[in-house]
Amino acid sequence: MKVTKLSLNESLPLTCSRKGTCCHGNQVLLNPWELARLAHEKNMSAAEFRAAFCIQGGSVLHFNGEKDQRGKAACGLYTENFGCSVHTARPLACRLFPLGRQVQHEKAEYIFQGTTFPCLNGCSEVLDLPKITVADYLEGQVTADFELAQDAYLEIMQNLADIAFTLLLETGLSESGDKATLTQWRKSGLLNGEQLAQLLPTEWQEALIVPSISVEKTDVQSFIEAHNERLQEQAQLHVNGLSSMNDFHEAAVLMMRMALFLARSLGADSSSLSEMWIDVAKENGARE
Ligand code: SF4
Repeated sequence: MKVTKLSLNESLPLTCSRKGTCCHGNQVLLNPWELARLAHEKNMSAAEFRAAFCIQGGSVLHFNGEKDQRGKAACGLYTENFGCSVHTARPLACRLFPLGRQVQHEKAEYIFQGTTFPCLNGCSEVLDLPKITVADYLEGQVTADFELAQDAYLEIMQNLADIAFTLLLETGLSESGDKATLTQWRKSGLLNGEQLAQLLPTEWQEALIVPSISVEKTDVQSFIEAHNERLQEQAQLHVNGLSSMNDFHEAAVLMMRMALFLARSLGADSSSLSEMWIDVAKENGARE
């Protein structure tokens, strides 16, 4: 589908008609900080929230509420005749809607899918609402922390992939003639979030998706720094215990699956990413 890019000065009818249309029949992705914020808002642990309100291993909100007049199910956090039950903690996807955000070459762009403004599909009366600029809309939706989280988790995703590269290319695994690792990377890129999460051992699922870091006592930056440090420490401990080529292979696959799970939760195309990483590995001597 064609994507329309927007400048920050573009004026659009971004004021919501408040019909809740966007809370029905959509897909809302969550990164681990957003999941923790929502859990805190609901007075639940992140693991409890994940079990109650998420699908795809904790990377997507479950839209299993009542259906609207179009037959589209509501987000599980939507309350009929009230709206979002977690408004102050709602994730970036909800704050941006109907816009999207894509990061290319470390530059963020705001977009919408298609060529006509998407709200017109469900709320044609938005045309009568006042127009505001994209920049003013983002400020009103308080997106700054959420955008920071998104970008910081992209770095963590790359850090995890880098560990996978180290395990493949700097342990002798690649030189041993191993071909199975890249095959598994490719297969993993085709899996959805649920399948990827199921392939992660419990301690890694917890470390990646529901880390026990308080959102109450930490700002977004500190939360994600602490998360990154814990993942790096856990990975280092894991790597220190490896000795055989099969150990290195399994760890390289595990770390790539972690990176790909995070990629999916950030809206990245995990298949294209795994192909890109496979090409980089091959350029550095890995074989398939
Ligand atoms: S989190 Fe809130 S705003 Fe987002 S889809 Fe669910 S109910 Fe709607």
